[in-house]
Amino acid sequence: MCHAEFFSASLVYLPMRFISAAHIFDGEKFLNKNPILVLDDKNCFVEYSDRKSIDRSNLEHYDGIICPGFVNAHCHLELSHMKGVFEEKAGMLNFAKNIITKRMTFPKEQIQEGIVEADKMMWENGIVAVGDISNTQDTFETKQRSKIFYHTFIELIGFNPERVETVFALGKELQRMASNADLKNSLVPHAPYSASDSLMQKISADVIETKYPVSIHNQETEEENLFFKKKEGDFAELYKFLQMPIDFFKPSGYSSLKTYLPNLSNCGNLILVHNTFSSKEDIIWANKFHEQLYWCLCPNANLFIENTLPNINDFLKENCRMVIGTDSLASNHSLSMTDEINVLLSHFNWIKIADALKWATSNGAAALGIQNNFGKFIKGKNTGMNHLNYGSNQLTFNKKLT
Ligand SMILES: [Zn+2]
Repeated sequence: MCHAEFFSASLVYLPMRFISAAHIFDGEKFLNKNPILVLDDKNCFVEYSDRKSIDRSNLEHYDGIICPGFVNAHCHLELSHMKGVFEEKAGMLNFAKNIITKRMTFPKEQIQEGIVEADKMMWENGIVAVGDISNTQDTFETKQRSKIFYHTFIELIGFNPERVETVFALGKELQRMASNADLKNSLVPHAPYSASDSLMQKISADVIETKYPVSIHNQETEEENLFFKKKEGDFAELYKFLQMPIDFFKPSGYSSLKTYLPNLSNCGNLILVHNTFSSKEDIIWANKFHEQLYWCLCPNANLFIENTLPNINDFLKENCRMVIGTDSLASNHSLSMTDEINVLLSHFNWIKIADALKWATSNGAAALGIQNNFGKFIKGKNTGMNHLNYGSNQLTFNKKLT
């Protein structure tokens, strides 16, 4: 337990920690006066202090940047065992087919080992909170024991409207298991092409009371828009491959986002994941239609699957709230927020470090509704503290300080 008020009022500073750095990022901005961070004996943040009041022999000083622990807004911990299994840049359709046919062919032990290792990898890379997709209960035990805070998105897949009650009931059962494991959770649709209007509406109604966040994979490929505009392309093919007739589906003539977003209008925070093929028009329309949108970038996964990145400029011009996700090890080589930021910095060298760090900390926390506990240095809380170095427009993760 932290005794922030007691310590603030007291001049007796030991056994506290006093940390200074060349640059301190507080979750929103770099601090001007470069103060010293005072932590208590449980590594909870007490206060900022000026240099005069601190004995230099007690000071831990770091070159580079100090920032709060990272918030990974989108991950699939349960796919971790499929690291290195899939061919890169083979396109979304091949990736989806592979996931569907291969994910369950691995021994249980291998699945569990992958989950435990990935959870450890994220913690060691300075990630303190994660929005994590679950289709199964495979990750629940690890997440319950983890040092990382997880919000579990119970993901529902059901494109045929006739199956809505069955799919929803299965989701509710998995949700009950997550709640029994003390995991904060909410039901979410997988993607526009895999969740019917009625399923999305039921999910949207389900979070009215909790106002917990909802996420959906959005416009990860151009084929998704083609499917909604004309019922053509890869997704029409995918349903043929799966031998699932989709006679019930009528194309809307609009992009996927414009078609499905009205179904999710009751949701509070809504995290749109990928957005690789969201047009400027889509972005402007969606922000007006839904006031609590968060736009999640998963740049390494986008390069891995489709070899394309979203047009970041369009999002920033419209003042979108950006967050960052690693996606899963099935479509990434690491689960590291600095790796994701570095891809953004190397492709869009005008992105400010302060913006990217904000997306990876306080914006992620706000998206997951955990802004009172993560994403900034918060009095009385240990929100994680990362030491980074910066050079040649790239960040290096150095170590966790708390
Ligand atoms: Zn995903």
